[in-house]
Amino acid sequence: MKIFVDKEKCLGCGACVAACSEVFMIDKDGKCKVKVQRKLSCVDQAVDVCPGNAIKVE
Ligand code: SF4
Repeated sequence: MKIFVDKEKCLGCGACVAACSEVFMIDKDGKCKVKVQRKLSCVDQAVDVCPGNAIKVE
């Protein structure tokens, strides 16, 4: 399993961090990044709430 954030699509809204702060953080560039690859159920919630459809899990 690998979690990806497409920075081109990321709006920097922080919704993924609110949903799953264990896995996502806002980087220095104001866009989201994956801080740790962990298969938590909240990752799916972050995918669902992302308005930019920027998070992919493979
Ligand atoms: S929810 Fe989506 S658009 Fe918002 S910061 Fe996270 S990855 Fe970016």
